[in-house]
Amino acid sequence: MKKERIGLFGGTFNPIHSGHLRAAEVVQKKFHLDKILFIPSYIPPHKDTAEITSPTHRLKMVKLALHPYSQFVPYSIEVDAKEKSYSILTLNKIKKLFPEALIFFILGLDAFIEIDTWKDYELVLEQCFFIVINRQGDYFDEAIKVLTEEYREKMYELSKSEAIKDDLLFSFRIFLLPIDALDVASTDVRERIKRGDSIKGLVPGQVELYIKENKLY
Ligand code: ATP
Repeated sequence: MKKERIGLFGGTFNPIHSGHLRAAEVVQKKFHLDKILFIPSYIPPHKDTAEITSPTHRLKMVKLALHPYSQFVPYSIEVDAKEKSYSILTLNKIKKLFPEALIFFILGLDAFIEIDTWKDYELVLEQCFFIVINRQGDYFDEAIKVLTEEYREKMYELSKSEAIKDDLLFSFRIFLLPIDALDVASTDVRERIKRGDSIKGLVPGQVELYIKENKLY
């Protein structure tokens, strides 16, 4: 029987935006993922925490955004843990919950190039596949620089149209996937709101409404 394929897409999601959804759609189709778990972090280890909206609001916005997508699942494992969110801890928990599944860690290049600052990052790399996507204007050269020789050999840069057959998948560990990324960042969304500018199209309509109703940012 074919193993279930589960994507993990973690982030601050402060707030979730169209760029996240675009990336997840491309990755899901390309790697034939059965589902993608969207995992808002509790206290993000790599960010200045002063500007972070409560986990409850961020999770609620993720739920609203994912409502139209049957294969995208809001996953509150880090918010519920109420402790600093480390990828290795989350991954270990998810592996226990889905022992038979193939796990794919999905992240943008900006997040990937900081991987050597993560707690036990080599253990994370050893236990799942990585799918690294570009953001607007990014090139993958940076990704290659951050890893040791051992992991560089396990890295594969896909072309946009390339199909992922099992022999390719199981020969590598880290896949660099070029996508037509949307030029959206949560920081930009928050700044627009502060300035009173429109965020139409940058976040799903339901999220825009939620932000307005709850006077966020
Ligand atoms: P901020 O502007 O607050 O730093 P962000 O827009 O980068 O936020 P995060 O929640 O930190 O959003 O991102 C979660 C994950 O999604 C990260 O791996 C990030 O690289 C990726 N990501 C964010 N925006 C995009 C985008 N427009 N296209 C592709 N990937 C993205």
